Amino acid sequence: MPMPGTRIFAIANQKGGVGKTTTTINLAAYLANAGRRTLVVDLDPQSNTTTGFGFEAHDGPGAQPGLAASDPRKVNQSIYELLVTEGITPAEVTKAHPDLQNLWLLPAKVDLYAADLELLYMEERERRLERILGTLKPNYDIVLIDCPPSLGLLTVNALTAADGVILPLQCEYFALEGMRQLLKSIKLVHDRLNPRIHLFGVVLTMFDSRTKLAGEVVSEISQHFPREKFEAIIPRSVRLAEAPSYGKTILEHDPRSPGALAYKRLAEEVIARAAVMETIHA
Ligand code: ADP
Ligand code: MG
Repeated sequence: MPMPGTRIFAIANQKGGVGKTTTTINLAAYLANAGRRTLVVDLDPQSNTTTGFGFEAHDGPGAQPGLAASDPRKVNQSIYELLVTEGITPAEVTKAHPDLQNLWLLPAKVDLYAADLELLYMEERERRLERILGTLKPNYDIVLIDCPPSLGLLTVNALTAADGVILPLQCEYFALEGMRQLLKSIKLVHDRLNPRIHLFGVVLTMFDSRTKLAGEVVSEISQHFPREKFEAIIPRSVRLAEAPSYGKTILEHDPRSPGALAYKRLAEEVIARAAVMETIHA
């Protein structure tokens, strides 16, 4: 299936620890594996996506012994510089994944924490990321933006730049409650900044088939979001949790594990759904 036009997705949920980063990394790996030129934007100052791909994002006091400046996994400039300074091109910041084809990263470092405040005083502060990605679109089929666990200016930038939101939801009590704030933010950005933005999909994460609760959450989300909920459900899996500590995606770490198969299926659904979206909007 050809992928017409570039699709930009924000992986967002203002709650931390729900699987945004795990989903970004592994969904990206399988989109790339399916031949889609995929760019990942790490928009979380915690930089877990950057390190999860095996890049070294630390510098300054307390940094690890460190890689040589010439090492392909060494991050020098990051998304922070792109957002708040002029005169740097995305090409200078973009990193190709050293091992996987069709996969690139705009890395983050901890200095991104300052961006929320610095952006506040900039012109068109909500549209900085949209501008950056606008120039990059021809190079990629899909862009995934890993959002921080907040609804501040960084997330607003992601929602303004994106075509759709992919919302990871942990299978737990009050999963639905936590969605309300994000849905409200999507609506605000839709009305004021970006009429394209919508809830593209809900992906249930850390599913534990042994608990009754997990099954209940799945059926509740199916009822409320019958079109948005992805068929693929991500199981709770030690293999998924440990892969980033090796700097590996699950595709490299254990492609036969149930978590890997789930992310592969999710990638297929995203590709199919994006193609339908294209025909509707054409
Ligand atoms: P977020 O980006 O929303 O904060 P993460 O993707 O970093 O969430 O996940 C939070 C923690 O849960 C991490 O330690 C991660 O390794 C773990 N985790 C995420 N998804 C799974 C899963 N399907 N099975 C087991 N552990 C997971
Ligand atoms: Mg994260």
